[in-house]
Amino acid sequence: MANLKTKSSAQTAKKSNATAGRKPATKSLYSKADLEEIFRRFSIQRPEPKGELEHVNPFTLVVAVALSAQATDVGVNKATRALFAIADTPQKMLDLGEDSIREYIKTIGLYRNKAKNVVALSEKLIADFGGEVPRTREELVTLPGVGRKTANVVLSMAFGQATLAVDTHIFRIANRLLLAPGKTPDEVEQRLLKLIPDQYLYHAHHWLILHGRYCCKARKPECERCVIADLCRSPEKIWDIPAPLVELPQQNIGAETAG
Ligand code: SF4
Repeated sequence: MANLKTKSSAQTAKKSNATAGRKPATKSLYSKADLEEIFRRFSIQRPEPKGELEHVNPFTLVVAVALSAQATDVGVNKATRALFAIADTPQKMLDLGEDSIREYIKTIGLYRNKAKNVVALSEKLIADFGGEVPRTREELVTLPGVGRKTANVVLSMAFGQATLAVDTHIFRIANRLLLAPGKTPDEVEQRLLKLIPDQYLYHAHHWLILHGRYCCKARKPECERCVIADLCRSPEKIWDIPAPLVELPQQNIGAETAG
């Protein structure tokens, strides 16, 4: 018979952990073998996870990611399709000008500020990097509107470098599962980078986001549908039997992947 914990017992356990005055976990509870198995299963579920932000070159990816803060990928794509058709380089973006850029992206939240940033980052790319997108995080974060998380997404998607941009889903999962507990996204990122087996690092960002978006959901994790339910050490888990391990249809990575 399925080993189903009641929701209330899981909640009680969580509460009693909190009220027992224990320090929050600071180390991963997972062995090397557990981690290998978790990411092996994710790789079978989603062999080729993809980001959904449309772009035609590294420059348009930087712009798309910078525009995606507090916006959905779908909304950003709708606005950038027409924009990138006429401005796919920093120079063309400057030729277009801030007023026109603002018109193209006015359906995206914070568009006034974002239009300013697109102009400023185009100027900086021309002035300091010969119009090319730099390939290091240190250089990328010098661009206006580009933070560490955006830089990681660009390094991973445009240049194939294994990085891990910690968004709200990854931050939540790393802490909920006691996988890589941390108080800040940077802390979680550093821990995950050490834990995740090398061969899985490249896709880990997308796997964790998609797992958080479609299965280990913020308000209520759907443990009965989870392929790692047997390995998960979360006090919030309510089901111990892993769901069948099959490849899933391509899913949209959704909102707020970067910022
Ligand atoms: S078992 Fe539940 S809590 Fe654990 S990862 Fe799966 S969905 Fe999340």
